[in-house]
Amino acid sequence: MRNGLLVCQKTGASSRFAIAGQFRNHRFQTSILYAPSEQNVTRGLWRRLLYFVLPAPCLSCGQPAGETRACLGLCHACRGGLARWRSGCGVCGVEAGGAHLAEDHRCGPCRRQPPPYERLLSGWSYRPPLDAVLTGLKFRRLEYLGRQLGEGLAERYRAQLADRDLVVPVPLHWRRYLGRGYNQAAAIARPLAATLGLEIKGALRRRRSTPPQSRSSRAARQRNLLGAFGVRRPSACRGRRILLVDDVVTTGSTLRAAAGSLRLAGAASVVALTVGRTPESTSAGKRD
Ligand SMILES: [Zn+2]
Ligand SMILES: [Zn+2]
Repeated sequence: MRNGLLVCQKTGASSRFAIAGQFRNHRFQTSILYAPSEQNVTRGLWRRLLYFVLPAPCLSCGQPAGETRACLGLCHACRGGLARWRSGCGVCGVEAGGAHLAEDHRCGPCRRQPPPYERLLSGWSYRPPLDAVLTGLKFRRLEYLGRQLGEGLAERYRAQLADRDLVVPVPLHWRRYLGRGYNQAAAIARPLAATLGLEIKGALRRRRSTPPQSRSSRAARQRNLLGAFGVRRPSACRGRRILLVDDVVTTGSTLRAAAGSLRLAGAASVVALTVGRTPESTSAGKRD
């Protein structure tokens, strides 16, 4: 029980919107607790009735959400509004800008200064309604979104990921992890690894807590991230073909720092995969 709100015992979701969806999906596996005051008990019973009857609202617009395993908590219209990321560069995946480019095309920054990862793949452009989905996963802890995102990405990129043998989620610093109690990258990486039949390891750790992207300049962030990641057991990474997973790539500095640490620890290669991507992200940070 959290602040007298409904809590889903399966996913930890604590909002009434979350529980509506969860309750419908896991009706026989979910138990509901409610604050034990008299007033709340009455309201709680009424809500329980409503949750049985009403459909779960879309995370983005509040209309009734879809019910498929791939709806990502969105209604049909919002789900259709997700913009698939179309890679132009075969390494950093920067957008082609409408041009038809060969699979092995390399953009200028990747030719001049190849990043420590072999390839960066992303699911969708990071703009509405994807922001609502990732906010639901990150701050409302709706784990079913991590499962749907991880399974969806695994299916979409199964061929490109066929040579991977270890999945590593980008970690949070322990202080932020304690505050949030949850790493959204791991919530995506676990079902992704399970779908692909790959081993998953929390091989990285954050040495320093870095300020959130939005609060620091590009140069400051890149400085902050130098040596920001350590490798827990280098022997577990040596010679492995690693799939590095994060929720969003914005400047690309975090993925470069994490992939660089894994390569230094002896990883044979690193492919990075994110759910969302902002248009300005590049391989070498020229447009970070
Ligand atoms: Zn919607
Ligand atoms: Zn590139």
